[in-house]
Amino acid sequence: MVEPEYVATIGLEVHVQLDTVSKMFCACRTSFAAPPNTAVCPVCLGYPGALPVMNRKAVEYTVRAGLMLDCDIQSHSKFDRKSYFYPDMPKNYQISQYDQPLCQGGGVEIDTDAGTRIIRLRRIHLEEDVAKNMHFAQSSGVDFNRAGTPLMEIVTQPDIESADEALGFLQTLKALMLYSGVSRCNLEEGNMRCDVNISMRPAGREALGTKAEIKNLNTFKGVQGALLYEIDRQADVLRGGGEIVQETRRWDVDVGKTFSMRIKEDDHDYRYFPDPDLMPVVLEPKEIADWRQELPEAPRARRVRFVEQYELPDYDAGVLVADKAVADYFEEAADLSSNSKAVSNWIMTEMLRMLAEREGAITDVLIRPAALAELIGLVDDETLNSNSAKEVFVSLFEDGGMPAALVKEKGLAQVSDSASIEAFVEQAIAENPKSVSDYKAGKTKAAKFLVGQVMRMSQGRSNPQLVMKALESRLAD
Ligand SMILES: [Zn+2]
Repeated sequence: MVEPEYVATIGLEVHVQLDTVSKMFCACRTSFAAPPNTAVCPVCLGYPGALPVMNRKAVEYTVRAGLMLDCDIQSHSKFDRKSYFYPDMPKNYQISQYDQPLCQGGGVEIDTDAGTRIIRLRRIHLEEDVAKNMHFAQSSGVDFNRAGTPLMEIVTQPDIESADEALGFLQTLKALMLYSGVSRCNLEEGNMRCDVNISMRPAGREALGTKAEIKNLNTFKGVQGALLYEIDRQADVLRGGGEIVQETRRWDVDVGKTFSMRIKEDDHDYRYFPDPDLMPVVLEPKEIADWRQELPEAPRARRVRFVEQYELPDYDAGVLVADKAVADYFEEAADLSSNSKAVSNWIMTEMLRMLAEREGAITDVLIRPAALAELIGLVDDETLNSNSAKEVFVSLFEDGGMPAALVKEKGLAQVSDSASIEAFVEQAIAENPKSVSDYKAGKTKAAKFLVGQVMRMSQGRSNPQLVMKALESRLAD
């Protein structure tokens, strides 16, 4: 393999909104769909003199997330004011954590083509989200519903070396956050947003190159696209003898390029200082130990267990555990079924496809795990053939109910009695003399056609294996 001329060094800052009932420093509800500026109060509007009160649940969620990511939880941390001037932040500072964040260190294990890698974390801190600027034809407005939503910022070490690794990291991180139950991680609703920084250096050189930052990427595809573009752009600049400028760039998804926005300001420009309105955060060791005790099984461990306990291929197990709700559904159905591989197959094909088409969630589907297990039992005991089983699945998916009752009601049970099958076979033979002579002349494909005719006559309900057998024995005469 030819060594690449330049090596990329990538760091991510991932903002994850916490799924708390109320905001970070006031009692307003966290809301996404409410009309603009209806979930607001003097605190999150930044009125002078309004005093913040810390949401303890947000601290707990951040610690739970940190435990899931193997971080060192800090028993003492504090909130700082990050000063800047922008319409989305009327008090001219954002409450964040500077030098004493809640979580330090940690890491995320990801799969790459070259095996597993650990992407180390630098820290996780807790802050308030800002308002949302909205731009109209003739004017702009600010919606403060989002202002004050608890927001974790997860910062990686510069361990990521490609756009694919960045994507793998984000997907794994999302799964871990869903497992820990701290965020809904809905990208469309902006629950996860990402800033990336990237530099290039000649292969073999230790010192890192100058980095560019790309802000506010709100899809994983955007992160991947922006990084792929930036890796090419920076390598071209360096190859041509040019220098990379330290700057903030913007990803334009329609053009598929990044554009320079502004020369980057350094950290000290934010004039961080401790927020005098908020007490330091002190966590008791007992509290942290309890939360650690309550950690759910991590997706990786669950994947290994699925392979062992349910005898699934590793690939299937990986697909199922990527979404906690899907894995939970699988496990409930598999425990009720004697054929866990079939449960996995139904979920990975029909279920996920139909959910994707309808943009639905598996937690809301009307076909419950017990119904899926029963359906698989009906296939395995040959009450249903695979065509009818799909029909039943679709019906249960749309309307709910139990398969055995539905099969009875609709007369979908497979025709397996030999008298009926033989009658259909006779009819197929009588109606298709050409296929019969083809078959007798050694064209075995003709038998498939005849089986198809029988299936058609029986509205797809015959047992195809029995039809084939009957046909073969009849034509052997
Ligand atoms: Zn408020």
